[in-house]
Amino acid sequence: MRKFDYNTVEEAAKQVYIKALTDLPPDVRGALKRAYERESQPPAREIFKAMFKAIEIADRKKTLVCQDTGLPIYMVKIGSDFPWNGAEIKKRLSKGASRATLEFPFRGSSTHILTRINPQDSVGRGLPVIYWDFVEGSDSLEMLMVPKGSGSENMSTMKMFIPADGKAALKKFVLDAFVASGSNPCPPGIIGVGIGGTADLVMRLAKEAIARPVGERSQQPLIAQMEQELEDAINATGIGPMGLGGDISTLAVHIEWAYTHITQNPVAVNTQCWPARRARAIIHPSGDIEYGF
Ligand code: SF4
Repeated sequence: MRKFDYNTVEEAAKQVYIKALTDLPPDVRGALKRAYERESQPPAREIFKAMFKAIEIADRKKTLVCQDTGLPIYMVKIGSDFPWNGAEIKKRLSKGASRATLEFPFRGSSTHILTRINPQDSVGRGLPVIYWDFVEGSDSLEMLMVPKGSGSENMSTMKMFIPADGKAALKKFVLDAFVASGSNPCPPGIIGVGIGGTADLVMRLAKEAIARPVGERSQQPLIAQMEQELEDAINATGIGPMGLGGDISTLAVHIEWAYTHITQNPVAVNTQCWPARRARAIIHPSGDIEYGF
């Protein structure tokens, strides 16, 4: 049993980035297999076979499922009883992402917004993206890595509707956004939808929505119903795998939500591509690390 120190955080941050890029979660593998079985169009079935081949090669060679290693995003939950120093954890997450990139090694995708100079290690000002949350009664630190490639992230969109526009406007916005994104986000992936909150919170909710295991329905019946309605509408578009036509255009629609202002009705879409990459580490006070998805 190892003892907790900040090297543990750095090591876990490195390993979850590599794991997310090389090892798809079982729920994603299962969802792709079920999608293939439901797909009736022969060209679309061939695309699924190419995806299975990419997964098989990644498994066999312990390499990347997709060449776009994305930007690193850590969703961190810190237990109220976990002995921690937030500033040090932040520093170690960045070092872990950098070391993963340089030591695996894989392509660093971060760049300066104006000079376009790439430091080659996936980090830089504002990166990695870190979401912080706190859990009452827990003594562990959980980090979920969700690397985001540009094909899907570039299709992100949000809009501030007004309450009079109602639920119908939110659904139409999501559907229009999906149709407009076409093949760019490498469908069929998870369509993450945020509703409620503020302009910034609603996009974070959409991003959190793509991080749920595929098809895990919202606990709220009204939200779960909206997820199903959107999923059916998106699959009815016929856009299909890689945007080339077929029965399956999305593996799942997930919605995360928050209360909003009485005069607001915000919605955001953050699409995840077919590999729906994510990996999780739970660090216990002893320093033991559990890896999973
Ligand atoms: S959208 Fe996803 S699957 Fe497509 S190239 Fe980017 S990371 Fe790869």
